[in-house]
Amino acid sequence: MEKIAKPRGTMDVMAPDVFAWNYIEKTVRETAERFGFTEIRTPMFEEIGLFKRGVGETTDVVQKEMYTFTDKDGTVYALRPEGTASVVRAIIENGKAADTLPLKYFYLINCFRYEKPEAGRSREFVQFGCEMFGAPGAGADFTVISLADSVIRKLGLSNVRLHINSIGCPNCRPKYREALVNYLRANRAELCDTCLDRMETNPLRVLDCKNDSCKKVAEGAPRTVDHLCDECRAHLDELKAYLDACGIAYVIDPHIVRGLDYYTRTVFEFIAEGIGSQSTVCGGGRYDGLMEELGGPKMAGIGFGMGITRLILAMKQNGVEPPALAVPELYIAAMGPQAAVRAAQIVKELRERGINADSDIMGRSLKAQMKYADKIAARFTLILGDSEIESGRANIKEMATSEQTEVALDEIGAFLDARRG
Ligand code: ATP
Ligand code: MG
Repeated sequence: MEKIAKPRGTMDVMAPDVFAWNYIEKTVRETAERFGFTEIRTPMFEEIGLFKRGVGETTDVVQKEMYTFTDKDGTVYALRPEGTASVVRAIIENGKAADTLPLKYFYLINCFRYEKPEAGRSREFVQFGCEMFGAPGAGADFTVISLADSVIRKLGLSNVRLHINSIGCPNCRPKYREALVNYLRANRAELCDTCLDRMETNPLRVLDCKNDSCKKVAEGAPRTVDHLCDECRAHLDELKAYLDACGIAYVIDPHIVRGLDYYTRTVFEFIAEGIGSQSTVCGGGRYDGLMEELGGPKMAGIGFGMGITRLILAMKQNGVEPPALAVPELYIAAMGPQAAVRAAQIVKELRERGINADSDIMGRSLKAQMKYADKIAARFTLILGDSEIESGRANIKEMATSEQTEVALDEIGAFLDARRG
């Protein structure tokens, strides 16, 4: 039969890679919960209009990267390319905007974007994200950044740096935009075709272009931080004071603008040095206009998204290994069918007691069973035959030391518990 391959830009994750995934997922959940964020689960697909409005018509995500399909009733849906729009929709739809503020949600979700796959960029990827609503002050920006920072430090990623910028608000952005567009028009000969379009629709995005010639233009471009209104300036200064006081290092980076349309004021990225071109492990910012844009009340919002594959690349690059898997405590080698059943019974009791134990289910010879015990690195082994079943006692052997201890078959659990300390 002809084989079928997985879709381009997707992956199968299995041991040993899955250990890093599990470790990261556990770390982000624990950290988010410590910060008082609760998990939110939303559908994997939404009406396409949610992303058009929530992410922005002029963004690459909406223009080029969405996976869309038409349902049998004619509704056009998109697989979610990100998490924020759905969270906002869910808050509005479930009346959560009336809850005690701030609202604090986190998610660990699969996202889908039709992109050119490369290291750290896939078509299906997993994002850890958090969103906080109803807190307009810089303390909220700090909390969200601190959560990302905490995850990054717990994972041992010492080469990751925080870059922050402010892109202003509807008060000061128009003036800045004008200055930027004038500058870009004067330098249009150096811009790529995409940026010539962006210059008119979403000029801030030009500052984010990866094209070398556009990067040079961006170097000399007017900076948002030089055009902030008093309120936006004060907000940025306040955030800096929080970060300084709490010892979170950062650089002000005028090139951080973020690709999505709805950002206001603070934008930030955590960038890993040396993992290649996909070096942004986390991107986020404030989006005070988004809730209203999606039909809800006026409510401040801030959050981030963190790509798990990029965290894994950064872990590898830092030489950080996920904690080793727990090895089986006991392997019971059984001689004959009667012993196999008795072994299964003991194993079942041990597992219920919380002990990782195993026995043969393959009908292997004693020699092959011992080889298997070696392969799975069982800490203890025990050989169970007719005489052991009859006497109710057997020798348990610690593999590392070859030390043998005689135990009653119904006291194996107590013996192992004592040895586990
Ligand atoms: P990039 O500039 O890398 O395309 P982006 O601005 O499109 O990033 P966001 O939409 O802010 O990214 O997503 C937040 C995070 O999700 C990114 O910082 C990255 O870690 C991860 N991410 C985004 N797109 C992908 C992808 N296609 N594959 C893997 N991870 C991704
Ligand atoms: Mg992108």
